[in-house]
Amino acid sequence: MVRTLAESVRALAPTLAEREAADSEQYPSENIADLVAAGVIRAPFPVSAGGSGCTLVDAVDAIETIASASPSTALLAAMPIGLAGAYAAGPDVAPPEHRRAWAEQIDRVAADYRAGTLYAACNSEKGAGGSLEATKTTAERRNGRFELTGEKILASFGRYAGLFFSTAKVDQADMPGAGVVEFFLVRPTAAGVHILDDWDGFGMRSTESHTVRYTAAPAEGIVGFPNFIEVVQPLQYWFALFSAIPLGCAAAIRRELATPTPESPALRLRLADARMREEALRAYLHETARAWRPGAGPAYAARALRTKTYVTQEATRLCAELFALSGGRHYKRDDRLARALAASFAGTALRPPLPLALDTLVQQFSSE
Ligand SMILES: Cc1cc2nc3c(=O)[nH]c(=O)nc-3n(C[C@H](O)[C@H](O)[C@H](O)COP(=O)(O)OP(=O)(O)OC[C@H]3O[C@@H](n4cnc5c(N)ncnc54)[C@H](O)[C@@H]3O)c2cc1C
Repeated sequence: MVRTLAESVRALAPTLAEREAADSEQYPSENIADLVAAGVIRAPFPVSAGGSGCTLVDAVDAIETIASASPSTALLAAMPIGLAGAYAAGPDVAPPEHRRAWAEQIDRVAADYRAGTLYAACNSEKGAGGSLEATKTTAERRNGRFELTGEKILASFGRYAGLFFSTAKVDQADMPGAGVVEFFLVRPTAAGVHILDDWDGFGMRSTESHTVRYTAAPAEGIVGFPNFIEVVQPLQYWFALFSAIPLGCAAAIRRELATPTPESPALRLRLADARMREEALRAYLHETARAWRPGAGPAYAARALRTKTYVTQEATRLCAELFALSGGRHYKRDDRLARALAASFAGTALRPPLPLALDTLVQQFSSE
């Protein structure tokens, strides 16, 4: 029987949650392996390339389901699933001169996903606040290939990554038509790549989100074609996935507090209220995700930013309010609800982090 993406993740969720409960500190290798084996990580690729041709709404639903079982597993999964979403934009998004190479790259990367290679995001930089313009890592062409130099932070998967995709600035002389930054593919085992062991998160411990230093590290190439990020606008795809993480945390806390049904009518009312807020956030997120398409333009980018800002902020707030209702027996560092609360904050910190998102909203403010 062929399962839909929604059925696959729901079938896996209890096992993901059991492993999370047994050990929330170590990299969840079995959880990730199960998601790879079930075709979840490659789901956005078309069926012809081994994916399931899932929509962004399907992927958002999958991340939420995974997050309510294991938030760290969901955060990790969001990175390669988002990149698969960018590849699923298909050959036609490329300018004619790059179309053939892009089509070949889609096939090559899809094959790599089928083989289980984990593509990990290694983009953020200290002090950049999630802004692409502030990226300091550079790519220089030397002997016919690009070499990256710079320092990245919070690169989830760390040494478990199969390939990093990393933003870097590149000179127009080296790459005519290049955008503010390009995504370069870098093998973690290449010379000049140094993965530190410095991650000790407040929540999300097991994501292995370490610092990565590049010193003239050779890249295998770029994702897509010059100015890919501006032409395809893949970041909004990730923003929707990231928003589903704190939402999944809130849903998990609410469900746990509602089982068995509390005796107190006041508590039942608060949980009914929480459910309405959760459903409203999900509806907003799904509506935005449903409108995603490659190169959707500035109005959609603004909507995606509002959605990410609102959903992550309100879902995190909901987690905190529910936790406050949960009682003293949950007030322990390794309690499941306490961990879901801590994990939910990562949604507001993920690109773009809340302060930068708020500043951008103010800049974009219009009376429309
Ligand atoms: C658990 C976790 C996992 C992550 N995984 C990944 C990953 O796999 N790959 C990856 O690339 N990134 C990852 N990130 C990073 C994340 O996506 C953000 O990009 C990153 O956290 C942004 O930097 P910062 O807020 O930590 O710090 P800083 O860049 O030091 O910024 C500090 C503060 O100043 C604000 N700020 C800075 N500049 C501006 C500005 N110009 N305008 C307004 N405000 C500004 C920021 O919003 C921030 O609040 C992860 C983050 C977390 C928490």
